[in-house]
Amino acid sequence: MRYSEMFLPTIRELPSDAEVVSHQLMLRAGMIRRLANGIYSYLPFGYRAIRKVEQIVREEMNKAGAQELFMPMVQPAELWQESGRWQLYGKELLRFKDRGEREFCLGPTHEEVITDIVRNEVKSYRHLPRNLYQIQMKFRDEVRPRFGVMRCREFAMKDAYSFDADYAGLDMSYQKMHKAYCNIFSRCGLEYRAVEADTGSIGGSSSHEFMVMAQTGESEVVYCPQCQYAANMEKAEIAKPQDVAPLNANKFLPMEEIYTPNVRTIEEVCNFLQVSAKDVVKTLIMVADGNPVAILIRGDEDVNEIKVKNYLQCAEIELADETTIMSVAGSPRGFVGAVGIKCRVIADYSLLGAGNVVMGANKEDYHSKNANPGRDYDVKEFADLRVMHDGDVCPRCGSLIRIVRGIEVGHIFKLGTKYSEKLRAVFLDAEGKERVMIMGCYGIGIGRTVASSIEQNHDESGIIWPMAIAPFDVIITTVNINDELSHSRSQQLYDELSAAGVDVLWDDRNERAGVKFNDADLLGIPLRITIGPKKISENIVEIKERKSGAVTEIGFSEICSKVLEVKRKLLG
Ligand code: ATP
Ligand code: MG
Repeated sequence: MRYSEMFLPTIRELPSDAEVVSHQLMLRAGMIRRLANGIYSYLPFGYRAIRKVEQIVREEMNKAGAQELFMPMVQPAELWQESGRWQLYGKELLRFKDRGEREFCLGPTHEEVITDIVRNEVKSYRHLPRNLYQIQMKFRDEVRPRFGVMRCREFAMKDAYSFDADYAGLDMSYQKMHKAYCNIFSRCGLEYRAVEADTGSIGGSSSHEFMVMAQTGESEVVYCPQCQYAANMEKAEIAKPQDVAPLNANKFLPMEEIYTPNVRTIEEVCNFLQVSAKDVVKTLIMVADGNPVAILIRGDEDVNEIKVKNYLQCAEIELADETTIMSVAGSPRGFVGAVGIKCRVIADYSLLGAGNVVMGANKEDYHSKNANPGRDYDVKEFADLRVMHDGDVCPRCGSLIRIVRGIEVGHIFKLGTKYSEKLRAVFLDAEGKERVMIMGCYGIGIGRTVASSIEQNHDESGIIWPMAIAPFDVIITTVNINDELSHSRSQQLYDELSAAGVDVLWDDRNERAGVKFNDADLLGIPLRITIGPKKISENIVEIKERKSGAVTEIGFSEICSKVLEVKRKLLG
């Protein structure tokens, strides 16, 4: 492609509305333009990177035995009512009516549609397993679209769905996808980790997220440098403490109620009573599927709501409102404790062995001191309910864990029969018995993958593409396009490289050298070949690697084979 002909509007200044570097650079390098909140167009330079990622995804999915199809983005409400998600999905699902007043939505995901296709066509175990995938647009009316195409509303996703006759089959399908995802993200040149993820209300089955390591990531990832345990923070397990001394009732001090006017937060309580947060119990009233429950945790720890939700196996959980708190505790927020509370009580492991504690007295402006379990309040249930943090240990091997930030680029999930049961996707087994299909689903955000690559690979001058997903392999920078020899040699090299299957951008613009070098750095094409008037008269050109900055001079006749060699090396 000749730069002079390419639709490649670059921007010199920092875009004011872009918070993260990938968003800034995608705008500046003329890759994307915003149409509406969370809705973007890909311009030619950006779309080339998208297509490279898609190609890698296709190759690895096909290699893993999945088959590509293409499903509609507009989906009828009836299917979503059948699965129950028409009610459950909430505002992320964009719903509308056609001229005949029939209800539809824009697909945020395609479990319903694929299950409908498969239930109609597959009737026998002989036609299982099957794994079908597509690369298709999704629409999710996100509450807070941000970071450009990283979290937008309309985006391309590769989504795959596996159908197996039994759970052993699902395990195999899942393993194949896990492997395919590792291949895809390695080939894209990303530094990533597969981490255990929360499976939400489905429970039991497993799920992994593929996280690209980046400071700007929205997720926190916990991993163990010793045994390779890795999990999303939402899911990161904390082992039950083993070395807790049992409570000794002889050491219980008399409980006192202390007047603590307007003292509500843990910090205020610690200051007022001159105690450490470790001696205070935080009591959180939550409502799980309509039922109030009290969660007790040590004052210096935080409750992980997802763990509470999973422990209770409930569909919805939220913090209780003032009225609910008043009805179970008899006091307003800030003075709630476990003594005399009128609801189920669950304590975090951090309270195992805790005695003589400070907690709300369930009386406005009062706290209790020296409250003790068994004597003053009852706790029958202890569980892992807290947020992991620095200093915690690995639940598998006991070594110190590390916490890093990551961007979720892929997600694989054992669905089991969640959709096949609701939509009755059944088949006849070898004995002629009807059975429900066992499903898995597997997603990759295409645009988010490109954006995370930039998040990981850039410097102050611009993008640094890994060869595998770079919009072009090589940029030929002709320093002075009006120099006849420079022009003809550049043309010759451009033709030769193109014929050899190299993606070349030829900067043939009549611009100053400085402008051309700056644009080349901003665009981040892995190799730059500079053709300058003086050197080319001696048959010499310069080749520069964007990543290392290493510059070599090389004879004009050798440049084509050199480029092919470097390209092979960079593709690994
Ligand atoms: P998130 O927690 O980031 O919202 P999700 O769990 O909703 O992600 P999935 O439903 O598992 O995501 O979708 C599969 C993949 O699609 C994600 O791993 C991500 O790469 C991509 N994706 C999801 N939501 C968006 C979005 N709003 N913008 C861009 N890509 C997205
Ligand atoms: Mg989401």
